Amino acid sequence: MPWSITVGRFGGTAVKIHITFILFLAWIAGSAWAREGLSAALDSTVFILLLFLCVVLHEFGHILAARRYGIKAPVVTLLPIGGVASMQSLPKDPRQELVVALAGPAVNLVIGLALFLAWGSLRPGEFAEIDNPHLSLVGRLAAANLFLAVFNLIPAFPMDGGRVLHALLAMRVGGALATEIAAKIGQAFAIGLGFLGLFGNPLLLFIAIFVYMAAAGEAQMSASAQALRGLTVGEAMETRFTPISMDATLARAVDALIATAQQEFPVVDAFGKPVGLLTREDILTAVRKHGGDEPASGVMRVGVDSVRPAAPVESVFERLQDPKAPALYVTDAEGVIVGLLTRQALAEIVLIRSVRPDWRFGRRA
Ligand SMILES: [Zn+2]
Repeated sequence: MPWSITVGRFGGTAVKIHITFILFLAWIAGSAWAREGLSAALDSTVFILLLFLCVVLHEFGHILAARRYGIKAPVVTLLPIGGVASMQSLPKDPRQELVVALAGPAVNLVIGLALFLAWGSLRPGEFAEIDNPHLSLVGRLAAANLFLAVFNLIPAFPMDGGRVLHALLAMRVGGALATEIAAKIGQAFAIGLGFLGLFGNPLLLFIAIFVYMAAAGEAQMSASAQALRGLTVGEAMETRFTPISMDATLARAVDALIATAQQEFPVVDAFGKPVGLLTREDILTAVRKHGGDEPASGVMRVGVDSVRPAAPVESVFERLQDPKAPALYVTDAEGVIVGLLTRQALAEIVLIRSVRPDWRFGRRA
């Protein structure tokens, strides 16, 4: 996720903070300062750091549950609404999905109840005052954890409740339809939340926008994956493309840019094997910095993956979501480039399948 800062690593998982989470923390510290002065701001900051720790533990609840099913999570990103563990894949089995989704809120429930028992008493009204510095730290932390457990169970993506809902639906109607229904329910919740935000807490409005976008994104990704199902890379790749020779200058790359409608240009060696990739933006940036006489190979992207034409598109779809790899090389058995798998081409397939769901693409050799 862009706009995130890495703060540490634990057991192969990088912990990142999204800039909006920092703004959220600053908002709480700032409001305490404005109301009560410096000591209250310090108190709130300590509270926030402890709360932050609980959010991290929540995420590790998900991660450790997922690890039981052999799924790794390389990154955890903290957002104002909790956190998002970027799992390498989602559990396909709805029962596993349910366990992984519930493991996070369960952590907060356990912490909350433990602190509650340690603290002794809790008035129900205090649940609504987690930013009130007059309550004891333990009491506020207990309330905050119970709040986190409940809040994360709101049945909307990207909240855990959205996953719980999806898992429960998937057990009855299957994965694809479950995603569609869960995304719709999530968006309805977001609209309701935004409405409440208009008349109450502006933070709710902010969360509502976030939830709506996440639900829309989830539905979009699912629709795309659905449209690409059953296609091979060979059927989806671009076959008419202009490669750039390894010893070409940037001026040559500019010529290719003008002569074609391509956005991505593979750079190939004398045998036609790909050695790098140049995007339209790469060429523009390089020309601005170096002029036209520099070799194109000096500024190309390296480390772009090669895939084989027989591979299912579904299996490589996620690799194309990486902003550093806007395209993948398609190579034959000798490693010679035969096509280019681009986001643009996949978007067009999704478009055609949206007007003709049964369209067959297998027209090329
Ligand atoms: Zn969670």
